[in-house]
Amino acid sequence: MTDDIRATLGLRPIINVSGTMTSLGASIVPPEVVAAVAAVLPQFVEIDDLQKKASAVIARLCDTEAGFVTASCSAAISLAVAGAMTGSDLAAIERLPDTTGLKDEVLIQVGHMVSYGAPVTQGIAMTGAKVVPVGQATSARRYQLEGAVTDRTAAAVYVVSHHVVQFGQIPLDEFVAVCHARGVPVIVDAASEYDLRFFLATGADIALYSSHKFLGGPTGGIVAGRKALVRAAYLQNGGIGRGMKVGKEGMVGTIAALQAWETRDHAGIRARETASLALWTEALADRPGVTATLEPDPTCNPLDRLKVHVDPGQAHITAWDLADALASGPRPVIVRDHEIEHGFFYLDPCNLHPGEDAIVAARLSEELDRARRSNDIIATPLEHRRNRRVAAAQRWPD
Ligand SMILES: *Cc1c(COP(=O)(O)O)cnc(C)c1O
Repeated sequence: MTDDIRATLGLRPIINVSGTMTSLGASIVPPEVVAAVAAVLPQFVEIDDLQKKASAVIARLCDTEAGFVTASCSAAISLAVAGAMTGSDLAAIERLPDTTGLKDEVLIQVGHMVSYGAPVTQGIAMTGAKVVPVGQATSARRYQLEGAVTDRTAAAVYVVSHHVVQFGQIPLDEFVAVCHARGVPVIVDAASEYDLRFFLATGADIALYSSHKFLGGPTGGIVAGRKALVRAAYLQNGGIGRGMKVGKEGMVGTIAALQAWETRDHAGIRARETASLALWTEALADRPGVTATLEPDPTCNPLDRLKVHVDPGQAHITAWDLADALASGPRPVIVRDHEIEHGFFYLDPCNLHPGEDAIVAARLSEELDRARRSNDIIATPLEHRRNRRVAAAQRWPD
């Protein structure tokens, strides 16, 4: 912590047990990736050639035909959808978001219409495409997908995420079969997935990833898949993609992150994460009103999180007040709190520097001890917390 740039910038030295969150700076970029980024920044490169190199690395790791680097997975969604509409027609690419004369309908299951910080449907629609919802929030069936295809269908988007409804949806293999039977390409948003091959191997035409999530790259995204569709997406850089431009540092950083991924000691990392989870489980054992259970990742990434359920009657604090207390003080600990209204949060062990897990354990003990000593139950109305967060966003930069 000696030369922590955050102190120079006047920023709080947060500890991230939330996950690979854009709002927290995504992930820890390993030294070899940092070195690659630093090495290219002072040099000129021919960008199309650099992206060809990226294509070869992406194709090898994803076991597919081609790929390129984008500014983000969110950008990749827009570029891939745009490419499915225009193909390699440069005039059509320059006309977007005017889609006159193009197939412009894009199918997506309602249960997949989530927000990852911005709505996925907006990433589709900003190309000029028309979003066509399939099914209902908690149920989508084959006949509904079949019935949604028209002669104007350009593509279908399939989202893999802990955010999507995890039941009642059409599985990817069936989704692909229905779409392919009608000549509709399938684009899979796999932004936060470890597995670089599964979705393409299941038949998706394009798979999209974030560079800055599990891969530990700089901010960026990856488009991978069938060559003609990848090329059509790439050519959008001369159109709507210009405002989503990724630089040489993002390309080189993503290539380096992919190479580091190949040689990464995945088992060693898993073992460290398991040790952190055990440390926290021990710190939370035998505490009145606190139940800690290990939970596997909902989309089958090789990762467990600790689910911490808090009963305010016994712990003398609500889950959300505990989360806020942990997020205060000299070493703020930011927990994973998407579902906090159910009275629990998660501790995610995959973004820690050495020794931070012990600080998290100490902070948990400290705040839970403090709450137990309180005569009142610390219980802020949940809507106050939500509204406070919205109000803070609306006040930015004040
Ligand atoms: C994070 C995420 C995105 C956005 O990825 P960025 O690279 O941060 O733009 C899109 N889809 C899903 C499912 C995500 O988890």
